[in-house]
Amino acid sequence: MATGLAYIICYYNLDKLGAVCACSVACIPPVVAIVIGVYLVGEKSDPVEYLKAVPTFGRCRFVEHKNPQPVSRVPIGDEHMQQVDLAIVGAGIVGLAHAVHAALAGLSVAVFERDPAADGASVRNFGMLAVAAQPPGRQLDDARRALRCWAYVAQQAEIEMQRSGCLFLARQPEEMNVLEEYAAREDVADQGVRVLTGVECDGYAANLRSDNIVGGLWSPEVWKVDQRQAAAKMVEWLAREHGVSFHFSTEVLAVGASRVETSAGSFGAEQVVVCGGDEFATLFPQAFRETQVVRCRLQMLRTNPQPGGWQLKPFILGGLSMTRYAAFASCSSLPDLIERQTESHAAHLAHGIHVIACQEADGSVTIGDSHVYGDALDEERSDIIDRLILADLAGMISLPDTRIAQRWLGHYAHLPGTRVLKLKPAKGVTAVTVTNGQGMTHAFAIAADILNELGLQINEIR
Ligand SMILES: Cc1cc2nc3c(=O)[nH]c(=O)nc-3n(C[C@H](O)[C@H](O)[C@H](O)COP(=O)(O)OP(=O)(O)OC[C@H]3O[C@@H](n4cnc5c(N)ncnc54)[C@H](O)[C@@H]3O)c2cc1C
Repeated sequence: MATGLAYIICYYNLDKLGAVCACSVACIPPVVAIVIGVYLVGEKSDPVEYLKAVPTFGRCRFVEHKNPQPVSRVPIGDEHMQQVDLAIVGAGIVGLAHAVHAALAGLSVAVFERDPAADGASVRNFGMLAVAAQPPGRQLDDARRALRCWAYVAQQAEIEMQRSGCLFLARQPEEMNVLEEYAAREDVADQGVRVLTGVECDGYAANLRSDNIVGGLWSPEVWKVDQRQAAAKMVEWLAREHGVSFHFSTEVLAVGASRVETSAGSFGAEQVVVCGGDEFATLFPQAFRETQVVRCRLQMLRTNPQPGGWQLKPFILGGLSMTRYAAFASCSSLPDLIERQTESHAAHLAHGIHVIACQEADGSVTIGDSHVYGDALDEERSDIIDRLILADLAGMISLPDTRIAQRWLGHYAHLPGTRVLKLKPAKGVTAVTVTNGQGMTHAFAIAADILNELGLQINEIR
């Protein structure tokens, strides 16, 4: 029976290790037999017996040297598993920003995306790099850091990016007070903002409702990127120029130390960064639940391309944005505006509406948005919200073509009072999501910080 078993083991070894390697393993039993005989059973030993074992060890060492085994962190049976320095879950802007920094540092990178192409918040937004909307300090500095990365990446990947600026329009004296107070602050002196009269506003954007507008604030530190194409173009550039491997239509099912399990098989990685946006249910749901992070649902619209080459130029924002953006939060005149809006815009506030409009490269105008927070958000669009958004915009600007060509919902992660949520749910795994709804503006700075914290030597674009 022992001989039979030995044969089975022998054939198993042949199958699993190959003939040469199995042969070396087959030489070990005599050595084991000597050890058992001498030390366990008490047989008399002769020094010549020990000498006989030497060639056996030598042969094994030789075979090992000729056939190096896969690195030990790859589990047995997965020796053909692809191994990278950094695996990234999610091909939205946060995942791609990590991929850019890591690839430029010469690391091997693989990105896994559930959809055939990025289809989350990163392609559903305004494409607004809102440096001007940041409160002074860390957030403003980081927005400017991120902007330098965008400028480099846009140029390399041929993404449309322009300094469009933004125009805050005041229709009420309370709104004008906030704009004037903000512009007078020392800490915004380097931003080049300008307070404008109603008439002056006309020089900054087309078709403004001069009859309705009492003044405004011109803020040049705002850029527009082509959000519908940016992700796809970045993917193409990263794959072509930096060898980043992209796995689309590939769901990541589980992540553990040095390992990513996907719908297309297992992958090995030194570090894994999960950039799943507002997706908290699949990976590490308990860790996300403990942070109280929720989802935010936004409602958006887009007009037909405007006729005759009509150009809006800057982003247009109104009073509802003044009470939303952190940049204005410390203005002492803000409470008066909030009080007024509580009466004049109760329905807008109930749906978390603040109105932004910007023009796309094809001439269409993107308009938004509303905000609803919660864990279980339905996917129903609301006509009432559309009407409220369009009514507020109509008080600021008369678009030549008001027909709506597209309506959609977008979602992002939200955790009040925070900009980014970083979790360490397992060894070698970091989960990161932007929690203030400004991932386009901040992703590159956040990704650089994360990779630096992981000790992956990146050279930040400056
Ligand atoms: C309507 C709207 C307007 C906005 N406007 C602006 C703006 O103008 N300026 C600005 O700075 N920010 C804006 N934001 C916020 C910004 O878009 C987001 O903060 C940012 O896009 C988040 O990027 P992300 O990569 O984390 O998420 P996403 O873009 O949502 O990407 C996450 C990706 O992860 C994938 N994924 C998740 N789980 C898995 C899994 N298990 N396996 C594989 N793939 C997975 C998803 O399919 C998705 O593609 C806006 C957001 C919205 C919704």
